[in-house]
Amino acid sequence: MATAVDPTILPASLDGRPKRLLIDGEWVPAASGRTFDSVNPSTGQVIAQLAEGDAADVDRAVAAARAAFEGPWRRFTPVQRQNVLLALADLVEAHYDELRVLDVVDMGAPIGRTGGAGFVSETLRYYAGWATKLHGETVPNSARGSFFTYTLKEPVGVVGAIIPWNGPLSSAVWKIAPVLATGCTMVLKPAEEAALSPLRLGELLAELDLPAGVVNIVTGFGETAGAALSAHPGVDKVAFTGSSATGQEIVRAAAGNLKRVSLELGGKSPDVIFADADLAAAVPGAGMGVFANSGQVCCAGTRVFVERPVYDEFVAKVAALADSLRVGNSLDPKTQIGPIVSAAQLDRVTGYLEVGKAEGARTVAGGARLTEGDLGKGYFVPPTVFADVDDDMRIAKEEIFGPVASVLPFDDIEEVTRRANLTQFGLGGGVWTRDVGKAHRLAAAINTGVVWVNTYGNFDAAMPFGGTKQSGWGNELSGHSLDEYLNVKAVWIRTDG
Ligand code: NAP
Ligand code: MG
Repeated sequence: MATAVDPTILPASLDGRPKRLLIDGEWVPAASGRTFDSVNPSTGQVIAQLAEGDAADVDRAVAAARAAFEGPWRRFTPVQRQNVLLALADLVEAHYDELRVLDVVDMGAPIGRTGGAGFVSETLRYYAGWATKLHGETVPNSARGSFFTYTLKEPVGVVGAIIPWNGPLSSAVWKIAPVLATGCTMVLKPAEEAALSPLRLGELLAELDLPAGVVNIVTGFGETAGAALSAHPGVDKVAFTGSSATGQEIVRAAAGNLKRVSLELGGKSPDVIFADADLAAAVPGAGMGVFANSGQVCCAGTRVFVERPVYDEFVAKVAALADSLRVGNSLDPKTQIGPIVSAAQLDRVTGYLEVGKAEGARTVAGGARLTEGDLGKGYFVPPTVFADVDDDMRIAKEEIFGPVASVLPFDDIEEVTRRANLTQFGLGGGVWTRDVGKAHRLAAAINTGVVWVNTYGNFDAAMPFGGTKQSGWGNELSGHSLDEYLNVKAVWIRTDG
């Protein structure tokens, strides 16, 4: 199934030289001098050396971000910030092939499924539009006396942004765009498994008319660089995307200076298929809602509830879909399912395959690591379907972050509403039905940040994305995300002398 890697497509930025940190506009090695390997999960080969930044580097990066915030960046007008974002969007489009191939070899996103440049550049243009539209309001007040009162929206200051590996380019842009639109500055800590496209974005930013220190990038490990950033007294806000367990660490670390925190965390999202649904759409829709990106998607609809009359038919069809998907090297354009990101994640996912079998779920597709031929060198797990899952099984409760669907039968709408919400998470949710009333009832009753009806996993810069319960605090994308990066100031002016 796997094919050879075409070396000509590998980007020039993989030139063998160790990567550096971006601090105060300069590319520098880590203060410790240490580096670590970045691995291509399709082959197990080391493709780059990354600088192992730690607390000392975070200190310098935060100082640079503070100086830029209080210095030249503060004097940028809204139109100038808009133009920075528009110019960055143009650069991302011009270099998109290189950026996406970096994600392909760094974290295993299948090249045929990376989507067009627009997914990233349009987000930057959307936020460019916001830069000129952030304003307070004049407020008629009822206080005794005579006052003119108004509000101002001001940038919170230095942002520590910590991102995961499952969509490195878009995760980085989802943080950089609101930072630049609102006039904040930042220190970005990419994930250790996939930092190459964020670093390349840093190089593109250097081509813009941007003061040094507005965007700093410190690669390194979560326990050191990430922990230092989230605890740093010079950071005003942490914007974190990652697991719920790390989210709890972030909140604890942020308590020191009570910095603001926004969290985009994990999920175990329900996808509900009613008997009246168009199964020709629901099977691939719900199936790819789990298997896309090898299930390494925070909002993957991994608890698939199917109404009893169509349960057997759905299980057979989604198993056939899973078996038909082509698993292989992420650089092969025919690949539909790439590898799991790392050896550690592979162990975690295959561990859950054994848990599912031991819990008594019926394996109807996949179920074991693929090791034949070249696949054995990478970290490949086939799309897996467990049928006859019940709510108490760990595979129905815990986030696996692999291509594993748990299919559960249900009998009526009240029952499925209750069971869909039987989770500590609240990120995504899906409904498949031809009954518009049922669609609206469930869209209202599912306690999550997003609900998709007769579709799954769509994104747009104008639509908020965030979670309830242990899936997070606040929103990314849309105008709502900007509030996470802005303080509201109230100004009172006495007008009666
Ligand atoms: P993770 O282990 O929480 O890591 C996320 C980031 O946090 C990485 O940069 C990591 O550094 C860093 N980190 C780890 N420990 C830290 C600490 N103690 N203090 C500060 N930073 C720390 O998550 P992951 O395994 O990379 O990503 C998978 C998870 O992210 C899943 O749960 C998924 O659902 C969630 N996710 C959520 C969304 C969303 O928008 N809701 C989007 C994507 C992913 P290292 O790289 O060194 O570990
Ligand atoms: Mg890698």
